[in-house]
Amino acid sequence: MNLMYKSTRNNSEKVTASQAILKGLAEDGGLYVPEAIPKLDVPLTELAQMNYQDVAYAVMKQFLTDFTEEELKHCIDSAYDKKFDVPEIAAMRKADGAYFLELFHGSTIAFKDMALSILPYLLTTSAKKNQVKNEIVILTATSGDTGKAALAGFADVPGTKIIVFYPKSGVSPIQEKQMITQRGNNTYVVGIHGNFDDAQTGVKNMFNDKVLEKEMDDAGYQFSSANSINIGRLVPQIVYYVYAYSRLVKDHTIQAGEPINVVVPTGNFGNILASYYAKEMGLPIQKFVCASNENKVLFDFFNTGCYDKNREFILTSSPSMDILISSNLERLIYKIAGNDAEKNAEFMKELSSTGKYSITPTMKEGLAEFVGGYATEEDTASVIAKIYKQDDYIIDTHTAVAAHVYEQYVKDTGDTTPTVIASTASPYKFTRSVMNAIDPAYDAKTDFELVDELNRLSGVVVPQAIEDIRTAPVLHDTVVDADKMCDQVKKILHI
Ligand SMILES: *Cc1c(COP(=O)(O)O)cnc(C)c1O
Repeated sequence: MNLMYKSTRNNSEKVTASQAILKGLAEDGGLYVPEAIPKLDVPLTELAQMNYQDVAYAVMKQFLTDFTEEELKHCIDSAYDKKFDVPEIAAMRKADGAYFLELFHGSTIAFKDMALSILPYLLTTSAKKNQVKNEIVILTATSGDTGKAALAGFADVPGTKIIVFYPKSGVSPIQEKQMITQRGNNTYVVGIHGNFDDAQTGVKNMFNDKVLEKEMDDAGYQFSSANSINIGRLVPQIVYYVYAYSRLVKDHTIQAGEPINVVVPTGNFGNILASYYAKEMGLPIQKFVCASNENKVLFDFFNTGCYDKNREFILTSSPSMDILISSNLERLIYKIAGNDAEKNAEFMKELSSTGKYSITPTMKEGLAEFVGGYATEEDTASVIAKIYKQDDYIIDTHTAVAAHVYEQYVKDTGDTTPTVIASTASPYKFTRSVMNAIDPAYDAKTDFELVDELNRLSGVVVPQAIEDIRTAPVLHDTVVDADKMCDQVKKILHI
């Protein structure tokens, strides 16, 4: 029996995993969710003996039931290979009383690689399974890291094109340089005058545009999404929580069955939702600490039960979390509404018309395992300096938001449960902010002087991704207004 997926806004339409991956978003604008979260069928003690690839198979086969063993293993082995600069794929480092799960050892040095290195394989396999004849156009909005990771994953993949929109003044210099130097005959990178939410809204509108869909189909194209709303990104993210837990068991830090907490620096709510799904699968996680930067929409939501995006959008030193509409939260809302698509659809309608909604007290009870916290820009900088001095370990700004929130959580609650902090980017990706946090005098130096200085301080080898852009030529320089995104796509596709 295949596990089927349905939309968070409609209970009738059901699709297979491969169809959900292909479509990205459901027809009604909802997100695909599995009818029930499957359980892990391999004991935790056994997982502790496996490598990353085998844990990935144990987790993913439960969700992607219409993939054969051979297909899924091919996807996993093609994704998690030498592109990662550590054999364990995700490394764990103890510091500040917690376990930092380093998810940035892939080709673009941010955690997005964990899912985006496998998505192209899942997608092309899904296309084959469903006899798709059209060329697949990946359409993506990025706050910085998704874009590059998706470009790297899809570059020159036959049968695909990828178009990435990013906020022209809302990403770090290194993030921008990484994207606009992207090679590949099927890659397109477009800056927009606007913020990430504008880019994301523009992309969502194109996905929901029936006329455009017809024009595309006539020309032999169809859209798919590499954004974290795609189930093909969510499922691979569940893997590393199971893997992290299994490493703690392997190291005898915990016994199989003992609870852990997780702290996740959050933007679009994909990463933390994956940890929640890991728990639903049977992984003993007690608390989900959701860490926000100054765009603390989620902190307020977990405290009050009111989601309200009507506020100033703040550009911070953790740009990948500068988000006011956390798309994946919809999957949690649907869940705490008792898997009630109609009720969820009402909240989402309210969100798009008024910019806010309030959940019921009963629904709020469903959030008991979640704790919200946030870090100001000052908190973020000071925890980077602190952990460097205390543990000789340099973390990036996003991870620092989580580290601060973790410290605050322990102070407030005295909860000493072993804790995994999702470390989402290499400090080399946000070198200027990281080095300024350690000493503001560094601000006088150029980006690449700072890279060399970070190398000197941390002793961590400069990642290939950074070496690559030192000299790479700019290949993409288009910038458009947010309301011209669709025109730009048509221009690219000649339709
Ligand atoms: C994308 C990203 C985040 C936020 O992850 P979500 O899944 O969107 O919540 C955090 N840190 C970094 C470095 C990222 O790239």
